[in-house]
Amino acid sequence: MADVLKGADVVAALGERMKADVEELAAKNIVPTLAILRVGERDDDLSYERGAMSRCKTVGVEVKSVVLPEDVTQDVLLSNVYALNDDDSVHGVLIFRPLPKHLDENAICAALKPEKDIDGITEGSLAGVFMGTGIGFPPCTAQACMEILDFFEIDCTGKRAVVIGRSLVVGKPAAIMLMGKNATVTVCHTRTVDMASVAKNAEIVIVAAGVQEGITAEYFSPGQIVIDVGINWDDEKGKLVGDVKYDDAEPIVAAITPVPGGVGTVTTSVLVSHVVKAAKKLL
Ligand code: NAD
Repeated sequence: MADVLKGADVVAALGERMKADVEELAAKNIVPTLAILRVGERDDDLSYERGAMSRCKTVGVEVKSVVLPEDVTQDVLLSNVYALNDDDSVHGVLIFRPLPKHLDENAICAALKPEKDIDGITEGSLAGVFMGTGIGFPPCTAQACMEILDFFEIDCTGKRAVVIGRSLVVGKPAAIMLMGKNATVTVCHTRTVDMASVAKNAEIVIVAAGVQEGITAEYFSPGQIVIDVGINWDDEKGKLVGDVKYDDAEPIVAAITPVPGGVGTVTTSVLVSHVVKAAKKLL
């Protein structure tokens, strides 16, 4: 039986770390504040927003919600981003994506000040991840994977790590961050040949492919650490499932994150921790 790497344990540790920072800020009359900029009423945005708001409340972070209609124009959305850039009471801004098709998402992301970009969507933040220049913050989900590895004291040095998926929000930054932890990293994607063998040969596997329970028994071998980033709603089961077929992997591997209750839980906490860090940069 595999060890279950529960997100709640990591969240508790992150919460403890944030508490001291929030108290230090309060002593200087600064309340760390997150602005959520949402266009429309997508179910997954609303659910993430609820999670983020409740986490913020627990930690003592203020939330401002800016909600715009689905048919908002590019100019109106841009003017809202500029207003949040200029609002000194706001330390971090979360813009829900994907945006509706009529909007130029790249231009919207580029308009956000990297200092307030708490989810790695600007070039400034990504330069921080890829070049170590330190502006902005890394994408929360990729960092959540690293927080899990750190919390459970999984040493990556010299280990063979495979990342399945190469998106800019998860796969690519996670691969770079693993390299930063001295792992030997292979990135698998839709054109990878014999992906199951590549994954099976790894000691650490991070799965972010967006394929509902598509990563099955043949990808796994004894002793592996598996981080499942996937979040998919299964209509038949009436619950969330990962990209990994949990019941296949769990009897084989050494440790695995559950879905729900794994990476997703930690992601929200990482987001809130970025708001606190952004506020602390003012001190
Ligand atoms: P995405 O669709 O943007 O990217 C998926 C990547 O996986 C692409 O690079 C694609 O080439 C690759 N891919 C697709 N099918 C594949 C296959 N069969 N084999 C190998 N590679 C394949 O998705 P994303 O935004 O990176 O998200 C990945 C998963 O993580 C999704 O299930 C998503 O719901 C979930 N997610 C979770 C969190 C969280 O907080 N836990 C946050 C963001 C995304």
